[in-house]
Amino acid sequence: MSERVYIGLGANLGDRGEALLQALQRMAALPQTTLRAVSSLYSSAPVDATGPDYLNAVAVLETEQAPHNFLHALQALELQAGRERPYRNAPRTLDLDVLLWGDQRLDSPTLTVPHPRMWERAFVLRPLAELDAQRVTAAQLHAVCDQRITVAQDPQWAASAVRQSTP
Ligand code: ADP
Ligand code: MG
Repeated sequence: MSERVYIGLGANLGDRGEALLQALQRMAALPQTTLRAVSSLYSSAPVDATGPDYLNAVAVLETEQAPHNFLHALQALELQAGRERPYRNAPRTLDLDVLLWGDQRLDSPTLTVPHPRMWERAFVLRPLAELDAQRVTAAQLHAVCDQRITVAQDPQWAASAVRQSTP
């Protein structure tokens, strides 16, 4: 059975746009997985952290993989992109977070879904609302409206990755 899975992508070190595009292509190429859609590309200020601005997006995929297997695959992609974890909320070349796994709730030591901090972050809620307006309320968007975030590129920025993935 396949689930509709929302992934948050972020990068604030290195060639950020290239890292996000490559991550989309690599997620699209994972076994039993199809990349369905990608939001616009956003530029945002770090939240609870210092460092350069982020580029962010949200992608929706369909996968038959189990949640923990999928998380491990995402972590391998982060490592492939040169991700290091020197301290909490450190700047990063690639961050891939599981935001939503269908309508499931998951609570294990290594995977909590819905992502526990997603409702505090404009860089998650804005692109998520763009992909699926049903998933985010106006009140939730309003609660993060003071965070600095702009659209850097329209959704076409990732169109080639979506096209290549569609069977
Ligand atoms: P963060 O994204 O919170 O800044 P990391 O990317 O370093 O931090 O992730 C830290 C840990 O969070 C990972 O080892 C992972 O097991 C755990 N984790 C728990 N829930 C999730 C989730 N929904 N998506 C991604 N990682 C998660
Ligand atoms: Mg993460």
